[in-house]
Amino acid sequence: MTGFDTVVVVDWSARSAPSPARPVADAIWIGIARNGGPAEARYFRTRAAAEADLVALFEAERAEGRRVLAGFDFPFGYPRGFARAVTGSDDPFALWAWLADAVEDGPDNGNNRWDVARTLNGLFPGTGPFWGCPAGEADAVLPARGTERDGHGMPERRRAEADLPRAQPCWKLYTTGSVGSQALLGLPVLQRLRSRFGAELTVPPFEAAGNGIVLAEVFPSLIAGAVAARTGADEIKDRAQVRVLAEALAALPSDALDAMLAEGDTEEGWILGLGHEAALIEAAGAQPTLAPPPLRDDCFALPAGVEWTPVDTALATLRDRLSPVVAASKVPLAEAAGRVLAADLHALRPNPPEANTAVDGYGFAAEAGQGEEIVLPLVEGRAAAGRPLGRAVPAGHAVRVLTGAALPEGVDTVVLDEDTRADATRVAFRGPVKPRANTRRAGEDVQTGACVLPGGRVLTPADLALAAASGHGALPVRDRLRVAVLSTGDEILEPGEPVAPGQIHDANRPMLLALADRWGHAGLDLGRVPDDRNELRARFDRAADEAHVIVTSGGASAGDEDHVSALLKEAGAMQDWRIALKPGRPLALGLWKGVPVFGLPGNPVAAFVCALIFARPAFARLAGAEWTAPQGFDVPAAFEKRKKPGRREYLRARIREGRAEVFPSEGSGRVSGLSWAEGLVELPDGALTVTQGDPVRYLPFSSFGL
Ligand code: AMP
Ligand code: MG
Repeated sequence: MTGFDTVVVVDWSARSAPSPARPVADAIWIGIARNGGPAEARYFRTRAAAEADLVALFEAERAEGRRVLAGFDFPFGYPRGFARAVTGSDDPFALWAWLADAVEDGPDNGNNRWDVARTLNGLFPGTGPFWGCPAGEADAVLPARGTERDGHGMPERRRAEADLPRAQPCWKLYTTGSVGSQALLGLPVLQRLRSRFGAELTVPPFEAAGNGIVLAEVFPSLIAGAVAARTGADEIKDRAQVRVLAEALAALPSDALDAMLAEGDTEEGWILGLGHEAALIEAAGAQPTLAPPPLRDDCFALPAGVEWTPVDTALATLRDRLSPVVAASKVPLAEAAGRVLAADLHALRPNPPEANTAVDGYGFAAEAGQGEEIVLPLVEGRAAAGRPLGRAVPAGHAVRVLTGAALPEGVDTVVLDEDTRADATRVAFRGPVKPRANTRRAGEDVQTGACVLPGGRVLTPADLALAAASGHGALPVRDRLRVAVLSTGDEILEPGEPVAPGQIHDANRPMLLALADRWGHAGLDLGRVPDDRNELRARFDRAADEAHVIVTSGGASAGDEDHVSALLKEAGAMQDWRIALKPGRPLALGLWKGVPVFGLPGNPVAAFVCALIFARPAFARLAGAEWTAPQGFDVPAAFEKRKKPGRREYLRARIREGRAEVFPSEGSGRVSGLSWAEGLVELPDGALTVTQGDPVRYLPFSSFGL
């Protein structure tokens, strides 16, 4: 985040009449981002209205002691020597003052800019530097075309524009991107803002940026790809542009923005962020963080009047009622594997970025490959990946190309090395060669703005490749879900601790912490709690402070020593989860101080199965990920079983020789069976008789993210 509380971006207009009442592109748009939040966009029909709004905005912000950065999309200065020729001084502010005196601009946008341009041209020898005006306005002093000028001695472009062919020269007053007129009609406004706000307002790089209002020249085209990616379907581009650039500037790290504000040319001015496009585009992709709303009190309520709720009903409840509870932030792409993507990701650039060759060979224009026995003269040099030829290939010529090389101008078809004979000056091959053979079109994989990855996805290694190829260097991901794990029971000891008769080692807590870890969450070990209501209450309080979700094992039934369920009941947000499922006794689900609690059974087999079936998808939702059902497949049974109706059963299973075998004992205390197993066989809710070879549903542990 920058050191600016408010970032304003202004898309200026040189119109001579008010813009239409219904918002259009060719008008003044002002984007305003406060405190790094989403920007609002305001529409103005006249420069006078926009100026009044800016004054009011700046005054209000300053009254609250807030620091403001305001960007305007027209040149703040002119090529070297111009200010001196007009004012006798190299000081750009002297020129601003001169323009503020000379320019008249009415409340309805009526203005004298052609006359001012004529006056300025008159100060130069030959035909002065300004050009471009409607036919009726053109004369010997103010020509209609740039080519009609000569002898004025001014450079065409500023240093800032040397590598920006898309930027229009400030001398051009009319038609496409008439920044010349925008500057003539904009600089007087900036000059009035300077007079009004005095030392509180600074304009880098003409002077060092201060702590109050900072004005800077901006060029939204620097982040055109990011704007395209974030322009709503029916949104006017100019509106999206001010909004996205304001958010991007606000999202930049403050030292990066300070460094950008310090750069540039103190006489000609500078475009903020020039040369740092990647950082700006990066910042433009940063989604403002929204604190997720809390869960509803009834989020775990199951249908009333049902004694044993079917597994699918319970899962549907979790899917529909749970929502993300973690905020989002950006992380470097290389650290994003396994994290949950916080928002749809759009391509910032096409893949491939330009047409290129898929093979090593020779490139030429398709027509040259239409004969039978073809011999083409070779142009000198070659095109390789990252090393373009740099010039056009004339018709009827061919050029050496290597895999991944951008196709030079004049080349759209490539013949494979193996199909050619070549010497130093010619290449021979058999035609006809299919037009565009062995080439890849620009954007054939991904086009700029396309949604490449949906929000809610857990990022895979392949996703990182796709995101990188689409121009991203950092990705918006959800903060990790903090999962507090605690065990309950007087009989439970730490693993390895010496035991007295009747005591057992805690098997659940290491297992549940490891599951949380495998699922990409941050496990928080909250230890063991004896069967004591007050101690448990204190531990729950601590867990609710430190974690997003609490998982307990043991004490979840309705017995005397089942304090988890008792406490949640006391808090008034407890649901007895009597699920028609084996293994698994009732679960206790509820909210403790707004934090969801999953009270799992104490028995390790039941705790494990219930964690896989219920906690895994529920935690994924809380973590901002999509809901996913485990993927299973039908395999022949290597066992026999008779099952009564009423409960879904999960058997510890594994596949050997293509058949599903199950652990010989269904005893739910048999922890060894969990390690033996490589998956679960899921038997449906109804009655069933399984005989050897019957198809049964097998869910490998890998489907549960293990
Ligand atoms: P409970 O749900 O508290 O009645 O516990 C059911 C069974 O699971 C009892 O035999 C407990 O001793 C056992 N159990 C509870 N917690 C754990 C644990 N963390 N590790 C191993 N066994 C446990
Ligand atoms: Mg217990």
